[in-house]
Amino acid sequence: MENRIVIDLHDVSEHEGSWTFPLTRDWSAAAFKDCDVAPAGEDGLLEVGVTPTGKDYLVQGRLRIGLAGTCVRCLRPTSLEINTPIAVLFVPGPVVVREPAKDDGAEAEPDEGPDVEHYQGHRLILDEYVRDTILLEVPMNPRCAVDCTLPGRPQGES
Ligand SMILES: [Zn+2]
Repeated sequence: MENRIVIDLHDVSEHEGSWTFPLTRDWSAAAFKDCDVAPAGEDGLLEVGVTPTGKDYLVQGRLRIGLAGTCVRCLRPTSLEINTPIAVLFVPGPVVVREPAKDDGAEAEPDEGPDVEHYQGHRLILDEYVRDTILLEVPMNPRCAVDCTLPGRPQGES
């Protein structure tokens, strides 16, 4: 996966305010190519601020993105709106390449403070973290927001 969400640490000291990164349809298509969701609608947006503490960097902000999933009831595409705060602490260390997050039945880790990622050199790379965070926010069994009918049942009858 190509890294597009990158913060150069050289910029942190003089950067005022937050960084914004568009989460483009191209990015989503690459990030979710093996998943049950697809890009939909307009580009998403990641907005973050960076707080240095020694050699660690706390990245906090919010991500918003619209995706298309499949309704488990009517099997039609349904739109999913992801809008979630993020908080991740980057600490120096070897960057581990992970597989995309999958539900393996394991208990979710207790929510204690920010997530931890590693960085090397002078770049914070957020692509994988953002992808995994989005996938964790996607409902396990997406359904249409309004009541929908089961496939095969004639519509308009009661
Ligand atoms: Zn449905």
